[in-house]
Amino acid sequence: MDSILIIALATMGGLGFIFAGGLAFADRKLRVEENPLIAKVSELLPNANCGACGNAGCYDFAVKVVEGKLAPTSCPVCDEEAAAEIAKLTGGDGVNAIKLLPRILCGGGDGKAKNKDVHYKGPSKCALTDIVAGGDKKCSYGCLGGGDCVEACKFNAIYIGNDKLPVVIEELCKGCGLCAQACPRGIIEMHPAERDLFVYCKSHDDPKTSKENCSAACIGCGICARNSNGAVEIIDNLAVINYELLNPGEIPIEKCSTRAIKKIEKNKMTVSLN
Ligand code: SF4
Ligand code: SF4
Repeated sequence: MDSILIIALATMGGLGFIFAGGLAFADRKLRVEENPLIAKVSELLPNANCGACGNAGCYDFAVKVVEGKLAPTSCPVCDEEAAAEIAKLTGGDGVNAIKLLPRILCGGGDGKAKNKDVHYKGPSKCALTDIVAGGDKKCSYGCLGGGDCVEACKFNAIYIGNDKLPVVIEELCKGCGLCAQACPRGIIEMHPAERDLFVYCKSHDDPKTSKENCSAACIGCGICARNSNGAVEIIDNLAVINYELLNPGEIPIEKCSTRAIKKIEKNKMTVSLN
């Protein structure tokens, strides 16, 4: 009996030893060296993992900042000092870091977008409306106006305006991008704050349908694409701007019959932060 116990213990011990050795070997051979900057950036973050930046947590945010996928100052919870320090660590000076702002790329507010003959009655959440009935508007690409973006914003920086389109209060916006993530129609895009030319439409309907559905729609006529040196392309009936090639002075935006492509309209609302 004793010998069975000894053999069992020796076998278990031996196996444990072999597996531990295997794990140690794998750890050494397969280890992926982490960029030490990630740990340094992480230390400067609040480590509250609140998700306000739209990432899985502070570590995820740190990885993306170090990889250059996020602006170093885009943590909405960090104070200015920490943000500047992160920018310095990752190559910026904290002053020139790119500030991102959400742009609402739908011009089909009340009075411009035509409504369906049948009125939708039900929960107003955009995500639900989008799936259930597609909302009241004839355009199946436009803003649903239910305010999922407003609900997503933790900083009260976005509201639904009189024309039932969202309005961003730039002074309050932290550029976290949660509103953009919440929009089921992909109407909200994050862009560098200084970028000022946009196509305020996402419709890929054919020109006739777009024209019938909304007076502010891009009808894919291609006037803006002419003489743009490739900066504006018509893709599936919609003008798309390539900002790498853009020279705004070259784009004949004044010739756009629906004003779908235009320079940014500054907020109608002013906010005092004092
Ligand atoms: S409006 Fe709100 S949710 Fe959208 S980017 Fe700005 S702070 Fe974030
Ligand atoms: S922008 Fe998107 S999330 Fe916001 S109200 Fe319109 S459809 Fe809803």
